[in-house]
Amino acid sequence: MDYRAVRASDAQSPMLLPNFTQVFLDLLPGDVRTDTAPRQVHNALWSRVMPTPVAAPRLLAYSAGLARELGLDEALLRNQATVEVLAGNALWPGMAPYAASYGGHQFGQWAGQLGDGRAIVLGELQRDGAPRLELQLKGAGPTAYSRRGDGRAVLRSSLREFLCSEAMFHLGVPTTRALSLVATGDLVVRDMFYDGNAIAEPGAIVCRVAPSFLRFGSFELPSSRGDIALLRRLAVFTLRQFFPHLLPAQGEPSKAAFGAWFHEVAKCTAGLIAHWQAIGFVHGVMNTDNMSILGLTIDYGPYGWIDNFDLGWTPNTTDAQNRRYAFGNQPGIGLWNIERLGTALLPLFDNDEQVVRSAREIYQQTYGIEASRRFGMKLGLLFRADLDDGALLQDLFDWLAAAETDMTLFFRALSSVVILPSVPQELPPLVHAASYAPLPANRVASGLAWLQRWWRRTRQEAASAVELAGNMDAVNPWFVLRNWVAGEAIEAAHQGDLSKVQALLDMLLQPFTEQPQHAAWAKKRPEWARSKPGCSSLSCSS
Ligand code: AMP
Ligand code: MG
Repeated sequence: MDYRAVRASDAQSPMLLPNFTQVFLDLLPGDVRTDTAPRQVHNALWSRVMPTPVAAPRLLAYSAGLARELGLDEALLRNQATVEVLAGNALWPGMAPYAASYGGHQFGQWAGQLGDGRAIVLGELQRDGAPRLELQLKGAGPTAYSRRGDGRAVLRSSLREFLCSEAMFHLGVPTTRALSLVATGDLVVRDMFYDGNAIAEPGAIVCRVAPSFLRFGSFELPSSRGDIALLRRLAVFTLRQFFPHLLPAQGEPSKAAFGAWFHEVAKCTAGLIAHWQAIGFVHGVMNTDNMSILGLTIDYGPYGWIDNFDLGWTPNTTDAQNRRYAFGNQPGIGLWNIERLGTALLPLFDNDEQVVRSAREIYQQTYGIEASRRFGMKLGLLFRADLDDGALLQDLFDWLAAAETDMTLFFRALSSVVILPSVPQELPPLVHAASYAPLPANRVASGLAWLQRWWRRTRQEAASAVELAGNMDAVNPWFVLRNWVAGEAIEAAHQGDLSKVQALLDMLLQPFTEQPQHAAWAKKRPEWARSKPGCSSLSCSS
């Protein structure tokens, strides 16, 4: 078992503490003020801030795998003295907490300065021979960037972020990680659906981990203010720390190095979003302040997983009207966000718009190649445009949408079809079972026709049918963290029962492996969850 829900009484004696650096603070300019009064912070990329203590920290869950990667002994992690650090009540030696400044385009509009309103970086954990990793507390109290917010997070959203970060990691998707989930013992007041019904909910803090939490918006903010010197310093820092292969042999990075970096960001963003599409993940709030400069999935809020295949679906009720961040829009929004980043970086390219135009092409080309490759793999195919695989895929998408069929279950079922010794003569029961409504005869016929076409196409692959089935099961998840499933674990956690959280943590370690003991959570969305708040749709309130 790689994860464990823990009780405070499990505390053991502390062992060796990790080393922390503050390279970001050492190399980049910061705010002179250290108070938390909301303000505009100019000529600086960060503001020192201490986490605000909480009443009664209790470790609810942690990632043993990540702890191992960080060189943190499990006994140390479970020790109550460590839990105090993970709750923002104490610091380890070498930690120097700060909140980062950034801006962003939210729902298509420039929103000005945003910044870490409720996230506080504790320090960069440094291990011999391993890349530095930042530890960041989400929900640790107000900062200079909190505006009217309280700097806190509730248990339900923290649990969702904790679970999904780790679920995505084990699905192989680039993501920020989550080390721990701590209940604060304090209550946090939230109006979950912005309808005037605010209630007090249990508070929690997630300790997130990533090489960097820099976002597109980190670069947009200084650029929007005309502070090109600051923009340049941040870009040079980013290249040196995270893209050193793009640095010139000597001297400062030039227009060409900055351009190559931007093109790499375009490429990895396109690759990330192709990956999201292939597993049916909908981020829900792809504002430019939620786009990682390293191409990681970042800021898990009102995200969701596709149940019935619907390109127009969004889990975010705040976006229900415009559906800007709906499933099918994600690739285009990724491109729009890249363009915003490119516009912000223009001064580094000597205002050469061609660099941004090339990034557009690189993004579109990469997305096309990656999406074809990934969806091809889901069908057991090495994608071949000359064999009309594009049309095969498009026809499948059309059928899945029309037949209201569950994306995850449908793709997972295909491995049992590919091994049939001859072309299927009827729509398999597993495919019927993946639909949310009984299929009318014409849909059964069109579904079967598609399956037969696909089955014949698989016979043109070099690999055997059994090999294809294995390859397909390795990319078509058996389990994804559907909203109703996370909702059940949250409801139980609110009652003090962490067993469901524990079960999910076990499941998500091996999302491509059938786990019969957990079969109830790998089913399609039950009817009761279709419209239940928190089980199908969520608001940004967290
Ligand atoms: P998000 O929608 O979570 O990505 O947040 C957008 C912006 O609002 C970021 O600058 C957050 O730091 C800030 N924010 C969100 N919730 C809070 C909160 N409870 N207190 C302070 N700032 C917040
Ligand atoms: Mg955010």
